[in-house]
Amino acid sequence: MKRIALFPGSFDPFTNGHADIAFRASVLFDEVIIGVGTNDKKQRFFDLQMMLECIDKSLESYPNIRVESFQGLTAEFAKRVGASYLIRGLRNTTDFEYENTIAQVNQKIGDLETVLLITSPEYAYISSTIVRDIYKYKQNVDAYLPYKLR
Ligand code: ADP
Repeated sequence: MKRIALFPGSFDPFTNGHADIAFRASVLFDEVIIGVGTNDKKQRFFDLQMMLECIDKSLESYPNIRVESFQGLTAEFAKRVGASYLIRGLRNTTDFEYENTIAQVNQKIGDLETVLLITSPEYAYISSTIVRDIYKYKQNVDAYLPYKLR
């Protein structure tokens, strides 16, 4: 049976930290799906379609990773794409506190095994929030992203 993993997140924007986690997961699983979660109530900063294209472009050398967007419950999307595993990244204890709870919920409601990958130290400080803040102040954010924003 194919081992399919879903890497869910907001990816607003998708950063070098996210890419590193996805690339490392692609060695562990037959297929990795990056799931960009959207939600009617939460407005995105970066356009969804544009971000899907940027992520797709970053995956050119990784044939077993693809990107899709989804709405609603992560566990339901995982089921739809046939994923039995969830990938998440851990930067620090704050991430851990959150991931710990959500992993237990996903185990219970979706029978999903969460695999937590520790950040590579060179990306540990990168977060989508920080990249958005830098971008809002019209600073160049190329150093944090695996693609160029137009
Ligand atoms: P969410 O809104 O679901 O937390 P994010 O897009 O912020 O989604 O992050 C998705 C996942 O990537 C989370 O597990 C987060 O901890 C992880 N992540 C974010 N930035 C990094 C990084 N620099 N290094 C490793 N993991 C990261």
